[in-house]
Amino acid sequence: MFSIAGEKAKTANIAKLEEAKKRLENGEDKQKVWEETGWYIAKDGKPRFEISDRDFKVNEKAIDKWLEDDKAYITPHTHVDISNKLYDFISHKELFEAYPELKDYSVQLYDEPSTTRGSFSAENKTIKINMDFYDDLKSPNRFARDDSRTELKKTLIHEIQHAIQDYEGFAKGSNPESVLKKKIKVAQYEAKRAKREKLNETLDGLNNATAKSLAYDYMYLFDKFREAELDSINKANDESFEKAIKLSRQLKDLKQSFVDVYGSDEPIKEVENFVYSQKDKANDKPTLAEISESNDRYKRHYGEGEASKEFCQDAVTIFSFG
Ligand SMILES: [Zn+2]
Repeated sequence: MFSIAGEKAKTANIAKLEEAKKRLENGEDKQKVWEETGWYIAKDGKPRFEISDRDFKVNEKAIDKWLEDDKAYITPHTHVDISNKLYDFISHKELFEAYPELKDYSVQLYDEPSTTRGSFSAENKTIKINMDFYDDLKSPNRFARDDSRTELKKTLIHEIQHAIQDYEGFAKGSNPESVLKKKIKVAQYEAKRAKREKLNETLDGLNNATAKSLAYDYMYLFDKFREAELDSINKANDESFEKAIKLSRQLKDLKQSFVDVYGSDEPIKEVENFVYSQKDKANDKPTLAEISESNDRYKRHYGEGEASKEFCQDAVTIFSFG
């Protein structure tokens, strides 16, 4: 991933920008000009270039501090606020070289059952992150932990993009959340919360460390399998079927390993059954047409699409909606 910067960046190559402008005036191919100068002109008329996130890292100490202070894992609805400067929270050499001002922006961490992953307040120069979405940062399962880290990074990049949009005066993002979209999010949120509680309740009590680790691995793969299963129903192609089958084989092996260590598959079955019993609740969901209407509405908002990098590949050609 990357951030999209503009001409106010300290690292903006203005000579290249002038070259790009000249070449575009001469009617040269936008894609070619972009590739060769690093610059393109977005629909709002403002030039853009990309900042790579290869040296972007979330500061481990900031997370550790959060984990220490956070009581949310035990009592879900506790609200904990921790503030950091963006500079203390992440390291991102290229970004801070381009926008030193961003160093002093605040990062506020909180934990709240809501549908908002993060937000940016231009008025307060503050990025707020809802850590409820990243509570697997402390999961006993390493894959879930990695996923959570990746998600946190994505949200930070998204909100940093809104900060840059504000600084550069780019077209703004807004996220007009339709009632339907909210409904899906709330349902997903509740299912996730219920599952996590069930998982902890059932598996944390296992007094065999190997069994416990296997059980968490199993439940992680089980989620992946259910996603793949749904995907194979929707897409009905060889690739998606193969993926689901592969995962189901891995699950079978893992379950066997668990039984070898623990003597039965009772705890795993219990969580599995619980997850399936939740399935009916999730069926009360909008139709695909409704979801796609809601997504379209989201994408029509330029800044939101830019922050989500939804059309980055086609930035030059797709920048044509109103
Ligand atoms: Zn946004």
